[in-house]
Amino acid sequence: MATQALFLDDPFLSEAEASVLDVNDRGGIILDQTIFYATSGGQPGDVGTLTTGNGVSIEIGATIYGADKSEIIHVPAIQDRLPAAGDRVNLRLDWQRRHRHMRMHTALHLLCSIVPFPVTGGSIGETESRLDFDIEDAGAIDKAALNEQLNALIAAGHPIQSRWITDDELTANPDLVRTMSVKPPIGTGKVRLIAIGGDEEIDLQPCGGTHVRNTSEIRPVVVSKIEKKGRQNRRIRVRLAEQP
Ligand SMILES: [Zn+2]
Repeated sequence: MATQALFLDDPFLSEAEASVLDVNDRGGIILDQTIFYATSGGQPGDVGTLTTGNGVSIEIGATIYGADKSEIIHVPAIQDRLPAAGDRVNLRLDWQRRHRHMRMHTALHLLCSIVPFPVTGGSIGETESRLDFDIEDAGAIDKAALNEQLNALIAAGHPIQSRWITDDELTANPDLVRTMSVKPPIGTGKVRLIAIGGDEEIDLQPCGGTHVRNTSEIRPVVVSKIEKKGRQNRRIRVRLAEQP
């Protein structure tokens, strides 16, 4: 059973209607469509509430992909009064949390664009995130300079757009893939590209995450730490300047 991922085309939907396709044996709720991002690519899944037509409110504590990634499973915080297949439900995200993920996620794209080394991993949090780079010469990275460059890109107000290309187009342009640890989402026939900077092209890469519309929406960030992780792995931590 496939779930249509509404967040791919409109990450700004914080509320929507959907139909329950199935409730699995662990109480996970599968819908025909959803605004809830499912954990992947270092970005945590969304939390929020699902309300049935009878006014029963179900708190969703996690959102994950099913085994074949075609279905998205909404995991209730408490398995009480679950809906049934066929029920219509209203979906509402914890938007504040999700918008912080979008700001942090977009900031990591910018970080990736100014650190000219392969990415080996990463993780997004609500107020702090990190990217790991394969850097042989650690002296090549200066925290103060990085901080300045990153905030300059944010303040410049570059637009962020998405577009779809075919798997074949991606295979023909392997340079588009910056993240070595995460395989690009090939197999469904098309891949979504995220472009930052319009004609200026600051960053362009395949990505299934959620992003803000303009870099200025990220607001100021702080490059908080550069850590050594293994012989030539460096972990760069970035946090939102204004903490909740
Ligand atoms: Zn992304």
